[in-house]
Amino acid sequence: MHALGLNPDDLENKVLIRPPVEAYSLIIGITEGCWWGRCRFCGVYFNTRTNEIIQRYRVRPLEIIFKELEYYHRVYGEYVSKVFLAGGSALSAPTELLIKVLDKIKELFPDVKQISSYAKNLDILRKSDEELRQIHEHGLDIVYMGLESGSRRILKMMQKGTTPENMIKAAKKIMAAGVKISVYIVLGLGGKKYTEEHATETAKVLNEMRPTIFRFRTLNILPTTLLWEDCNQGRFEIVEPYGILKEQLTIIENLDDDLECEVYNDHHSNYEYWESGNIKEDKQKIIKLLKARLKDPATKRLKHKHLLHM
Ligand code: SF4
Repeated sequence: MHALGLNPDDLENKVLIRPPVEAYSLIIGITEGCWWGRCRFCGVYFNTRTNEIIQRYRVRPLEIIFKELEYYHRVYGEYVSKVFLAGGSALSAPTELLIKVLDKIKELFPDVKQISSYAKNLDILRKSDEELRQIHEHGLDIVYMGLESGSRRILKMMQKGTTPENMIKAAKKIMAAGVKISVYIVLGLGGKKYTEEHATETAKVLNEMRPTIFRFRTLNILPTTLLWEDCNQGRFEIVEPYGILKEQLTIIENLDDDLECEVYNDHHSNYEYWESGNIKEDKQKIIKLLKARLKDPATKRLKHKHLLHM
């Protein structure tokens, strides 16, 4: 028996990922794995090259989630200010379970300031407006959703299993329920061939979606992915840092001038650190910064980071 009083099987093979911005949050697993698991660039829960399951999809039993929360309450007392509901898409869990978990978090950690989770667009779309409103009322403040690209072709090529329209619909639906949304864009996801399309189509989706926040990260290809294979066989060409910065500049330049959202270029895979509390106010400043960076001869010499984790 584990120290939490749990069966070791429940803790085995545990993959707990969270957005970098949630580094100091209490992380509590709601789901494991990913029910989709086919994206060509993702090797977190499923090795798409070998068809090996790294972590099988399941919604974790409520009693295990409660035991973990009670354990963390004993360890940290009430001093928890942020909680992240982990798993590829915590929102794939039944609404009833999510509400019970949110209520338990509020009961054990009454000072909690923010509860967040990842959310796959199709899981948002599967819930009714009323369910999403209830989830928000019981405490969910913000979700992180992988838009990855606004290009239909690139989403299809990457086997994302969804469309730009679904992404826009899901974001609008959850924001209408009162939940903020932070969307991820993966720079370089179209490879050299579709770099321009990736940038312009992504800007179009952002203009339509108007998320609370969007964040950039840069594609790094893991050996557990089909994209690794595509790269080795010359089917996919990596966009070098200069091209990544150009993509980013094109996205920012193509944003509507009245688009108001927070933007963070804070991921360690990126080549420049900057953030904006409101892109409407900072758009020209960011364009200037990126243009200056592209003019700098040192930028052409930058090497791709080739990180083996995201
Ligand atoms: S990127 Fe997200 S949806 Fe795609 S396989 Fe990975 S966890 Fe699942």
